[in-house]
Amino acid sequence: MNKNKFLLTLMATILVFTGSNTFAEEKVVKWKLAMHWPQTLAPFAWTVLRFSENVEEMSGGRMTIRVDDSNKHKAAAGILDMVGDGQYEMGHTASYYWKGKDINTMPFTTMPFGMTTAEQDAWYYYGGGEALAQEVFSKHNVISHQGGSTGNQMGGWFRKEINSAEDLKGLKMRIPGFAGEVMSELGVAVTNLPAGELYTALERGTIDALEWVGPGMDINMGFHKVAPYYYTGWHEPATDLQFLINQDAWDELPADLQAIVKSAIIVSKSSMYWENYAMSSEAWSKMGVDYPNIKVKSFPPELVAQMKAANAKLIAETSAKDPMFKKIIDSQSEFMAKAREWTKISDYLYLKDNID
Ligand code: CA
Repeated sequence: MNKNKFLLTLMATILVFTGSNTFAEEKVVKWKLAMHWPQTLAPFAWTVLRFSENVEEMSGGRMTIRVDDSNKHKAAAGILDMVGDGQYEMGHTASYYWKGKDINTMPFTTMPFGMTTAEQDAWYYYGGGEALAQEVFSKHNVISHQGGSTGNQMGGWFRKEINSAEDLKGLKMRIPGFAGEVMSELGVAVTNLPAGELYTALERGTIDALEWVGPGMDINMGFHKVAPYYYTGWHEPATDLQFLINQDAWDELPADLQAIVKSAIIVSKSSMYWENYAMSSEAWSKMGVDYPNIKVKSFPPELVAQMKAANAKLIAETSAKDPMFKKIIDSQSEFMAKAREWTKISDYLYLKDNID
C-alpha cells in the first residue's frame, strides 16, 4: 500500500468508525403530549398530529412526540397541571379553560370585544404578548406558545330567539372564558362542558344553549338539529389555543431540537387557522341549502351594549383585584387602540367598500 492510499484508507476508517459511533450513542428524545381534544376533532386534533409528524421528520427521527387524546388521558381539564409536573412534556389546549385556577391565562386565548386574529397575533409576537405569557405560565413550570386560532367565532346555538337581556335570564348555557363571566353577569346559568358531551347535553335539555366555534366545526356536531337559532359572534374574536411545554424538559432539549419544536409549533398554529377558515367557508356555503331550518341572527344592539358594559365592568373589577391581569389587559388595550385604526383603514374599509 503506498502512503497516499494508506492515509485515505485510514481516514475512511476513522469516518466510518466515528459516524457509526455517533449514531449508536445518539439517543432518541421521546416526548408525550396530552391534547384536550378527541383524536377525531378536526382541525384541532389534526393540528397536533401534524405537529408531531413534523418534529419527527425535521429531526430525522431524533425526536418523537406521542400524542394522547382526551379518551386516553381522561383529564382534559388537568392539562396545565400534567405538563407542569412533568407527567407530559407537552400539552395542547385552550388556556381560558383555567380561569378558576389562574385567571391570567385567559386573555391569551381571547377576550370578548377584543382583538381579531390578525391583531392578536401581531400583539403576541410583536407587541409584548409573548413575554407576558411567559411571566404568567412560568408560575406553572410551563412555557406557553400560541397553538392555533379559530378566527372570529359564532355566538352560539339557541333554542329560541333572543330579543333582549330578559330572554337570557335563567338560560343554561355552555360558554367558557371571560364571555362566560359576562353572560353570568346578565343572568345566564353558565357551565363549561367538553366537546364530547355538548350535543347530548343540548338534546337532553341539560343546557338550553351553547357556543362552540363556527360552521366548519359546529355543523359536524349537529347542534342545529336541536337549537336552530345561530347567532353571530361578540365573545371570541380570536380564540387561540396553546401548546404547553414543561420547563425542565425544554431546558434539557438540545438547541437544534428546540428550534425544530418552536418552528413546528408556528407552522401548526398557522395551518390550523387556514384550515379552519377553509372548513368554515365550505360549511357556510352549503349550510343554507342543506339545513334551511337554521336561522342566522345577530343579538339586538341594545343587548350587545349591555354585554359590552358588563364586560367593561368585570374587566375593571378583576384588574382592581389582580395587578397581573391589569398589566395584560392594559397591554392588549394599548396595542388594540393602534392596531384597530389600521384594521379600519385596511381590511374593514376594503370589505365595506367592496361588498356587493
Ligand atoms: Ca368557543
